Amino acid sequence: IDENHDQIRMNIKNVIFSEAAPRPLERSIKLVCFSEDVLMNILDMDPDISNKDEFAEFIAGRKLPYGALPVAHRYGGHQYGLWVGQLGDGRAHILGEYVNKAGQRWQLQLKGSGQTPYARVYDGRTVLRSAIREMVASEACHHLGIPTTRAAAIVVSEDAVFRDEFYTGNNAKERAAVLLRLAPAWFRFGSLEVLARGGEIPVLRQLCDFLIKEHFPGIPASDENRYISLFSEIAHRSLDLVAKWQSFGFTHGLLNTDDMSLLGLTLDFGPFSFVDSYDGGYVSNCFDGESRYALAKQPDVVLWNIGQLANAMKPLLNATQQHHVAHILRTLDTYCKNKILENFLMKIGLKEERWGDEQLIEKLLDMMQQTGADFTATFRQLAELEPSEMVNESKLEEKWSLKRLSSHTSWGCWLDQYRERLTKEAANALSDSFENERRRCMLSVNPVYVPRNWLLYEAIQDAQEDNYEKVKFLLEVIRRPYEVQPEAERRGFAAQPPQWAYSLRVSCST
Ligand code: AMP
Ligand code: MG
Ligand code: MG
Repeated sequence: IDENHDQIRMNIKNVIFSEAAPRPLERSIKLVCFSEDVLMNILDMDPDISNKDEFAEFIAGRKLPYGALPVAHRYGGHQYGLWVGQLGDGRAHILGEYVNKAGQRWQLQLKGSGQTPYARVYDGRTVLRSAIREMVASEACHHLGIPTTRAAAIVVSEDAVFRDEFYTGNNAKERAAVLLRLAPAWFRFGSLEVLARGGEIPVLRQLCDFLIKEHFPGIPASDENRYISLFSEIAHRSLDLVAKWQSFGFTHGLLNTDDMSLLGLTLDFGPFSFVDSYDGGYVSNCFDGESRYALAKQPDVVLWNIGQLANAMKPLLNATQQHHVAHILRTLDTYCKNKILENFLMKIGLKEERWGDEQLIEKLLDMMQQTGADFTATFRQLAELEPSEMVNESKLEEKWSLKRLSSHTSWGCWLDQYRERLTKEAANALSDSFENERRRCMLSVNPVYVPRNWLLYEAIQDAQEDNYEKVKFLLEVIRRPYEVQPEAERRGFAAQPPQWAYSLRVSCST
């Protein structure tokens, strides 16, 4: 820990954390929302605690828990493919670790809690809309089954901060908020990169050994090849993660190496989107002019980031070990493709992989892209009809996204192939029990609800006026994303989004 820092420290060395006290929100504060699941099942708290003033004051950075030692983490990163040097937690404070009743270790972090030694020219704050987007999305990812950091609660204040406005680019006054978020650890690819680039090799080794000991118990701590195992484990977890993202149409929006968790978690929700109409070229982040982080490019970007991780770990490896890592790197592309295929096959109710399956999925995605069919709704609706019903006009009338897809000239042909493929999986004929099982599996992996941009947008608009009902309702709905919920249906959460939703763009101004 570096303790003797000035306000801004760009040239510190041999340091992983700096002590840094939160700067409390000053003007009147209010609890916006909380995750009952996180309070109860991670923090062992009675959700009633959310009614107490102390709870909001704790999140606002005014009261630290007993024993807390707030620190900011030093890391670096490649942004948009370029090494930019040291970054670090500019506006986040890790308060310490909590070991819960279940024996799990969680690091509590406030985000938006004031400048740290790594804040550079920035104000150390987070705006309410950004805290809401992160809170809803991270809780949604968790309940969808996408590995992610978690979020416990948001407090908003009357403190003013200035940001370029959501879509217009005008400078606008907004309210400062603080998000309490949690992860087993907040280390990023950039945590290792900054040490390797600075030649701080003993600290790099110390951090890798700490990671192995605390977070990768399957790797023997004294094995001479432990860093190869660590690299391989992080690489494969990261690819498992991106395969999940693809299968939910989740576009992270900003996959810099400082936004890649060393634990394979979705991290730093900024300009993300769950895509509506499927488009592989969809770019969620309006600052991403070169479409580096487009939806279909995410696997390649993660592979590129893993290449940077390998570079960062190189100083810990001898020549033979470096060859070994280079060999692992060459296998990752195929591993990733297979993982993605596996996830998509499950989405259409297939468990065994067969020759031609890749083309079957590709063809489906192409048709979706060409017809503008909805990503989430199409897969759900494929589970709601029998294949024989999918050419029946009146049946299709009830399924808005499938109907759109069925306008494609190749639809009938694809359906024939799909049916034939299902028959192979069923061993000979499609029986009722096979069909029931297919549907059960598909309904369990294809959600009804994801936090679409337009839902977040509407919830945020109300929240700006101090009405948090929609945020709370959204949080409630995404706790059970695979279950049809009457009130969510009534509000159109699974219906075709309104026309204006398709022109929404997200910036990384947070
Ligand atoms: P991001 O683009 O959110 O991954 O952030 C990149 C870097 O800028 C990280 O080091 C952040 O901590 C820092 N940063 C972003 N916004 C702020 C802010 N308002 N105040 C201080 N640091 C910030
Ligand atoms: Mg970040
Ligand atoms: Mg970043």
